[in-house]
Amino acid sequence: MHKQVHGMKKFTYALSMVLLGMGSTPIAKADAGSQAAALLEILKVARGSTAQSIKNAEDNDAGGPAGNDTNTVWSPPENVEWIQHNFNTSDKLCNDAEGICAGWLETASEECKANYQFGDSAQATQTRLQYEQCVYQMVFKPYISLTIDRVTSQLTDTQKREASRLKALGWNQPTTQPVEFRVASDIPEPIVQASKSGMLAAIDLLGNYGPLRVYLVGNDVTLAEALVEDFCAFNYLAEQQQYCRDDQGEGIREMAYIYPGGNGFQQSSWMLESPVQSFVHNPYADENNKHSIDEGELNNDRKVNAHEYFHVYQGAHNVYRGAEDDSFGWSTTRWVEEGAAVYFEQHIMTEMGWQTEQQLKTRVTEDLETIKQFTTRFPGVSMRDVDTSAQTHRLLSYCGELCIGNLQYEFGHIAFQYLETKTAVDKILFEYWSEYTELGWHDAFEKVFDQKVDSFYDEFEAFLLLSVDEQCDILDCG
Ligand SMILES: [Zn+2]
Repeated sequence: MHKQVHGMKKFTYALSMVLLGMGSTPIAKADAGSQAAALLEILKVARGSTAQSIKNAEDNDAGGPAGNDTNTVWSPPENVEWIQHNFNTSDKLCNDAEGICAGWLETASEECKANYQFGDSAQATQTRLQYEQCVYQMVFKPYISLTIDRVTSQLTDTQKREASRLKALGWNQPTTQPVEFRVASDIPEPIVQASKSGMLAAIDLLGNYGPLRVYLVGNDVTLAEALVEDFCAFNYLAEQQQYCRDDQGEGIREMAYIYPGGNGFQQSSWMLESPVQSFVHNPYADENNKHSIDEGELNNDRKVNAHEYFHVYQGAHNVYRGAEDDSFGWSTTRWVEEGAAVYFEQHIMTEMGWQTEQQLKTRVTEDLETIKQFTTRFPGVSMRDVDTSAQTHRLLSYCGELCIGNLQYEFGHIAFQYLETKTAVDKILFEYWSEYTELGWHDAFEKVFDQKVDSFYDEFEAFLLLSVDEQCDILDCG
């Protein structure tokens, strides 16, 4: 069954550390247009220098780790301790004859250096997850992207069959059945109300898709157990109950006893005879596993619910299911999936008065700054590197989950903010998803935003080269 699980910890950090905010004031279209022309100029320069950088590295790098002064464009910081791991065993991920692509910054902690490991072994994978934050103490050499043809794959018979079945069942149409809430009784009432209000506001704005059941998990594992039973019965066949209890059921139990909460996952159970959707949310709790009813936390609960409902909405518009793993266009690229959900969450928070315009602008500025740091640390990595699962796996072996997380959330969010200045909110929230059903994510993009995806990547990468101040002039986040 398709499930979409948000890394619990990551999600928590994103929610609790990032201030709410984003600017929805539309920028004058003329400004956006002239900026675009300027961007294309920058773009030509940028692409020229990337090619140059690789060429120089090839010419000059006789084998040892790069870092010589002859590389005119990219040079590493001082005193990098290069990590003796060959990244280039099956593919060339960076331009180094021995595949030495990453190193510790001078300031890296001994703990990270001692524990973080690259490689495919179970041990390496395990500790890498545990110490994932350590990538922020490294620097990487410019990533060599995998070039792919972005051509939407022919629909298979399975996809066509699933689509006609789901459409006949009304999967992609609003339903009259109201959303149902299953709430653990240990959650304070203000939190329950805030969570429901986020969900209901999102349904009001986007339409009521489902049938949808929302589970609010508290901090009492015994009470959570009843939600596990309900969730599994609702989403899985009789013979899959045990599997569910051990898998997502365990996730729900963990939500109850692992604080600080503020996380959730969405599930589209489209394979059932009567397909349904679910969302499981564990509201924020502090380090003593106590729920907070601070207004800021209530707003986080509203935001998470609105965000996850956007995934329900995306799931409802996805009918050509069961595509082959190597097909293109039918499995939504990660930056679109998450970026649009963050864009929506920020939009509705402002519309509903749950955050101010200034908070929204602050959020946009923070994401722009995160992207700047990202680009210093992971040069050459961009949104275009996660469009297929092959690309995603390749990038994962380079810079790990956190790196992909930034592409999904911060890059994705800013990409939609940028698109808003060139197009319109309604195109992003409605028109795109209605075209997406029949065209897939890629072709719908080209139709609704009237631009080739490849050309958007070029333009957006040029935009990302501007200073944050210049970017804020375009996105109105100053
Ligand atoms: Zn999400």
